[in-house]
Amino acid sequence: MKRVLVTGGAGFIGSFLTERLLAEGHEVICLDNFFTGSKKNIAHLRSDPQLELIRHDIVEPILIEVDWIFNFACPASPVHYQYNPVKTVKTCVMGTINMLGMAKRVKARIMQASTSEVYGDPEIHPQPENYWGHVNPIGVRSCYDEGKRVAETLMMDYHRQNQVDSKIIRIFNTYGPRMRLNDGRVVSNFIIAALKGEPLVIYGEGEQTRSFCYVDDLVNGILAMMKKDNFTGPVNLGNPDEFTIMELAEKVLKYTKSQSQIVCKEKRDDDPVRRRPNISLAKKELQWSPTISLDEGLQRTIEYFQKVVEI
Ligand code: NAD
Ligand code: UDP
Repeated sequence: MKRVLVTGGAGFIGSFLTERLLAEGHEVICLDNFFTGSKKNIAHLRSDPQLELIRHDIVEPILIEVDWIFNFACPASPVHYQYNPVKTVKTCVMGTINMLGMAKRVKARIMQASTSEVYGDPEIHPQPENYWGHVNPIGVRSCYDEGKRVAETLMMDYHRQNQVDSKIIRIFNTYGPRMRLNDGRVVSNFIIAALKGEPLVIYGEGEQTRSFCYVDDLVNGILAMMKKDNFTGPVNLGNPDEFTIMELAEKVLKYTKSQSQIVCKEKRDDDPVRRRPNISLAKKELQWSPTISLDEGLQRTIEYFQKVVEI
């Protein structure tokens, strides 16, 4: 059993990860500044004596004796990471330096939650890990995309220079219950609009694609990676089934039985045209691949939002 730190542990993915680590019998320290996370996400775990909750911002140093660090603290929705872009860069860069400094000092294994955004608006499709990406360094998404790229650089430099046991996962669009009502990402936005009978707003014509991974599948991949020795990655974790945003909207309308309209608005700046992971490396090294289809995952997610959305 390990002593584990999960930064961003009160966020969407962090809360599912915390839950799974506790279920496996680990001691979990959940650290969060509650910018986009919420105590409610882990409220059902609070009676577990194996869980500790710390309010802290990873931009400030901290030292905790742990065996594993999952560095997941960072707003992930474009709406939230663009709200204070300088802070997003600080979280990715200074936050990761602080976590790596701690990992070095206490000799912990550390995993960085990186992202498919390191590929930018990709020219190679689907994206393998050895593709270096096509990222605008000065655009509205750069605080996140470039921030995460520097975080990856830091992970590898601490590994080479200080022998830190680093691990990098590149997460592709992940969805599920516990996404916040104001999260702003496409799956929760569409489900909430459909349940309220409001229009589903598509930015552009809806021809852009994404590949959506259900959160339980992702957590399986995260844990497989953390338990794998002598493998830094980066490794893609995502569902390779690719859909247009229009197809997603239509599925949401079907499963919510909603009469909502689909409305197209102006395309967002630097919005990647297509995105789909090549997961050969994850299959080979981690024996991992997702098992939950978009149809299944959407129905589970809709069930959750039906309970929390006020109609
Ligand atoms: P989220 O916004 O729900 O969770 C992020 C958590 O980090 C929140 O609880 C937030 O309060 C906390 N946080 C933010 N800045 C912090 C700081 N400076 N100090 C301490 N805590 C801070 O997002 P998520 O979807 O759960 O994403 C978790 C991680 O996975 C992020 O690093 C994100 O970049 C990465 N990721 C997510 C996706 C996805 O599709 N969900 C895709 C790629 C990468
Ligand atoms: N999108 C949309 N309507 C919304 C939210 C997002 O059409 O209400 C589009 C967005 O422009 C992008 C895709 O859906 O093309 C995925 O957006 P999201 O913010 O979920 O994540 P991204 O992959 O862009 O980081």
